[in-house]
Amino acid sequence: MTEIPIGSKLRTTAIINKYLMRAKKALGQNFLIDPTILSGIVTAADITPGDQVIEIGPGIGSLTEQLLVAGAKVLAYEVDTDLEPILMAELPTKIADKPLAERFKLLLKDVLKADFKADLAGFFDLEQPIKVVANLPYYITTPIIFALSQSALHFTSLTLMMQQEVAQRLVAEPHTKAYGPLTLAIQSEMRVNLALAVDRHSFMPAPKVDSSVVVLIPLADSKLGTMDRKQFNRIVKLCFAKRRKTLNNNLKGLVSPERRTLIFEKLALPAMVRPEELSLAQFLQLVPLIMGHELAQTSK
Ligand code: SAM
Repeated sequence: MTEIPIGSKLRTTAIINKYLMRAKKALGQNFLIDPTILSGIVTAADITPGDQVIEIGPGIGSLTEQLLVAGAKVLAYEVDTDLEPILMAELPTKIADKPLAERFKLLLKDVLKADFKADLAGFFDLEQPIKVVANLPYYITTPIIFALSQSALHFTSLTLMMQQEVAQRLVAEPHTKAYGPLTLAIQSEMRVNLALAVDRHSFMPAPKVDSSVVVLIPLADSKLGTMDRKQFNRIVKLCFAKRRKTLNNNLKGLVSPERRTLIFEKLALPAMVRPEELSLAQFLQLVPLIMGHELAQTSK
């Protein structure tokens, strides 16, 4: 590659000026201009030649270019149609002597409306592993993570840049402020590793907060077993509805006093325990007991 990388301050500034672009705040457009962070993402995602990668929000192609250079085949979802001509003009026309079209496909659509199986068929071999790599638009970070984790396709890994505060919630331990429903929803289905801390000045324009790159690996067997995911997440949310109150207090509208006593005894929970003091393993025991009660009530 003879050109300066797209994900450098110099080239990004040149592209923005050339196309008289304005980064669209409403679409979470903060472009990466730090080559060290870009190579850190490629390393964290463990990209090797031939990897099949879904990218969400290629923007002007900073990360896309590095994924392609590392040998990946990339299918990218981009909702901003204005970016198509820029991407197609700025990405290298050939990668390892092959035309770009063999290695890159752009889908101009909202990733939240994606039908991954249908979209990928014909470009990716659906029998082979598929990774997701993205510098996410922050306004939809959690819906995207849920959409990816609940897809019919089993992704090998999700390497995602997100705002630091959300990353902290994903990796949180009990007894901390960040620990809550999002932590439990994700950790019950995925292994989560914090890969990189990213300063806000690594982006153009710089967002108001710092970011982190997180690697999520879907578990072969969800810790939920046969439990319904939506039910589990809904009940965990109710357990945390009033964070400052005890678990017992949060369960008041859900479970009768007698049954609460039984549940607390069965799980050997202290009467004044707060929701953030329970481990994932304890929630996995608690939720079915609460659900059993709910079912008994609704069947009356
Ligand atoms: N990948 C580029 C980079 O690292 O510099 C741009 C990342 S920027 C944070 C997020 C990108 O996601 C933008 O290009 C934005 O237009 C796109 N985007 C926003 N909402 C989207 C959606 N619902 N579906 C697909 N792309 C979306």
